[in-house]
Amino acid sequence: MSAPDLYGFVPITDDDETIAALLDQVSVPTLLCTMVHLTGDPSWIRDDTIKPAGLFLNEYQGFMSEEAKAEARARALPEILAFRDRGGVLPPPPGPELIHEMMCFIGCADIPDDVLPMMLSELNLDGTGIPSPDAPPITDDRRDFPVVVIGCGQSGLLAGIKLREAGIPFTIVEKNAGPGGTWWENSYPGARVDVGSHFYCYSFEPADHWTEYFSQQPELRQYFEAVMGKYGIDAHCRFNTEVTEAAFDEATGRWTVWVRDENGTVEALPARAVISAVGALNRPQLPTIDGMDDFAGPSFHSIRWDHNVDYRGRKVALIGAGATGFQIAPTIADDVAQLTVFQRTAQWMFPNPNYHEPVPDGMKWALRHLPYFGRWFRFLILWPGAGTDLAGPRVDPNWDDADGLSVSERNLATRNFFLSFMADQIGDDPELLAKVTPDYPATGKRTLQDNGSWLGCLTKENVELVRTEIDCIEERGVRTVDGRFFEADIICYATGFRHNDYLWPMEIRGRGGVRLNEFWGDEPGAYLGMTVPGFPNLFCMYGPGTNLASGGSLIFHSECQITYIMECVERIIRDDLRMLEVTEEAYADYDQRLRAEIGQMVWSHWSIRNSHYKNRNGTIHTLSPWPLHVYQAWTRQPDFEHFHLVGGATRGE
Ligand code: NAP
Repeated sequence: MSAPDLYGFVPITDDDETIAALLDQVSVPTLLCTMVHLTGDPSWIRDDTIKPAGLFLNEYQGFMSEEAKAEARARALPEILAFRDRGGVLPPPPGPELIHEMMCFIGCADIPDDVLPMMLSELNLDGTGIPSPDAPPITDDRRDFPVVVIGCGQSGLLAGIKLREAGIPFTIVEKNAGPGGTWWENSYPGARVDVGSHFYCYSFEPADHWTEYFSQQPELRQYFEAVMGKYGIDAHCRFNTEVTEAAFDEATGRWTVWVRDENGTVEALPARAVISAVGALNRPQLPTIDGMDDFAGPSFHSIRWDHNVDYRGRKVALIGAGATGFQIAPTIADDVAQLTVFQRTAQWMFPNPNYHEPVPDGMKWALRHLPYFGRWFRFLILWPGAGTDLAGPRVDPNWDDADGLSVSERNLATRNFFLSFMADQIGDDPELLAKVTPDYPATGKRTLQDNGSWLGCLTKENVELVRTEIDCIEERGVRTVDGRFFEADIICYATGFRHNDYLWPMEIRGRGGVRLNEFWGDEPGAYLGMTVPGFPNLFCMYGPGTNLASGGSLIFHSECQITYIMECVERIIRDDLRMLEVTEEAYADYDQRLRAEIGQMVWSHWSIRNSHYKNRNGTIHTLSPWPLHVYQAWTRQPDFEHFHLVGGATRGE
């Protein structure tokens, strides 16, 4: 059997020496799994002399010794040459038990049976469900089923691909001029993803071209543009157009969605179902600081980075240093005359030596030419941060947390590990170490990836980290409450987003004209993060309670959600439903379970005063507390017992 072309494997044409040199750069644990496919021989993963010694997030070589890696490569080379010479013919594929064994091997762990279904579908070795770029024709039963998707970021684009595949007419309304959402908008210096790129992509569009292990914004933007083009989604998009309101009509089972384009022209779009894919971290949260309008120079929020302003040789004040500020500061530090970073709360960071590393040619080659190498590399990245075990962020009720610094023995160990990483980098500067040491438990907010660039930046002569509260902004700079004045030519507000204001500022009116923002108040919720009682045929992607603070990728979550939503949409079409609406009971039960669970997690801990995960009352409605495999199992198929299904859409009953 030839290597299937599911993921675009390209036949090998390189000569022996070239291949030998390229193999020096590959992830060896990944190679060993690949060799089982290429040879049909399981001994590659059973030989204790060449075996990963352990796996840790972003560790691609499994702590194998240099000798073991060299041995594995030397053994693999002739087999790869033979595979090339026989024209890419593969032996019969490994069976399910061997696949499980391979997972345990590369993950250096026992992959439990309950996690297995998620891991198998992630690996997707047989390419199940890969969408075709060719759209089927729209059939008569679907012609009168227009769907409006709000937003063309990663989730909206995904919704478009699935709707197109199902032959359902749809329109994606996007406020930006192109796709990609956050990766379209955030163009600030240093913007890059902090989930490994080979996992932070659609499972069916794995992309072997990433130039860095953690891609920068321009490459991510290109990726989403390329996917849009491949599946012909652009023909369905209305860019530079914003949804302002949407209202549901119970009598007809139809939504009307009002949109306003860049010229201010307003139009009403009919929809039988609406999918909100608006993202949760794109509406800027500007601070309210006295004198902000008095500043004489340019000032902007990080998501509105003004590329017309040349920061080189200027004095820059960076207000806010969460995930965004953390990336901006090291990127611009060498180019500015002075950088003053105002940070209200210190951040925890996770050591990641690969954070800025390019993907070597050998890895790119293996991803492109060795069947299944890409699938196993994705697994290797996914598994250690898969969020299948949430014991780490869980608060131990018997733990003495009176100092607010840890929530369990494991959490204290994490704190000490992170602290030693920070102390090693700072060296002999106890004052700086005290300034950058968080006063809340490790992982309590979003833990940032770091390869030393952040702390390295803070030790530069022209950089100052200010932890003192800001008093006001004046014409020429920023003054802190202790009276110090920091001159600035440019101010960047990296102060985050209105995370708790879901679907804001749109006005969404459901049955009886109930407004969604009033229904939610300060406590947004959705059954499985997707559906809300009173709002039939409305589905959220990346809705309340679905952000991830403990590993995983939002694209994974979006794939779970669209699977579920498409099942709902198909049910509406099949039964000609006027309304598919989650019951109050299912919603309340889910919400209560989610709150109970999230309340036991470190993110809710009392010691964390400022966190965009929390609402103004300090409770959390933004995050998912569920392990990824549990969420995937729940979203594989809707349980229609949890919905009111009201028929008679076209008959107008
Ligand atoms: P953020 O994490 O909310 O950080 C905002 C920063 O501004 C914090 O330092 C915050 O201080 C500070 N701040 C907010 N209001 C302030 C005020 N009134 N006065 C002084 N300081 C104030 O926002 P973000 O950095 O934009 O990141 C938001 C989320 O976007 C992240 O959690 C992540 O999910 C995503 N993101 C991801 C990446 C990536 O993948 N690489 C990059 C950027 C962003 P406190 O900490 O005290 O609130």
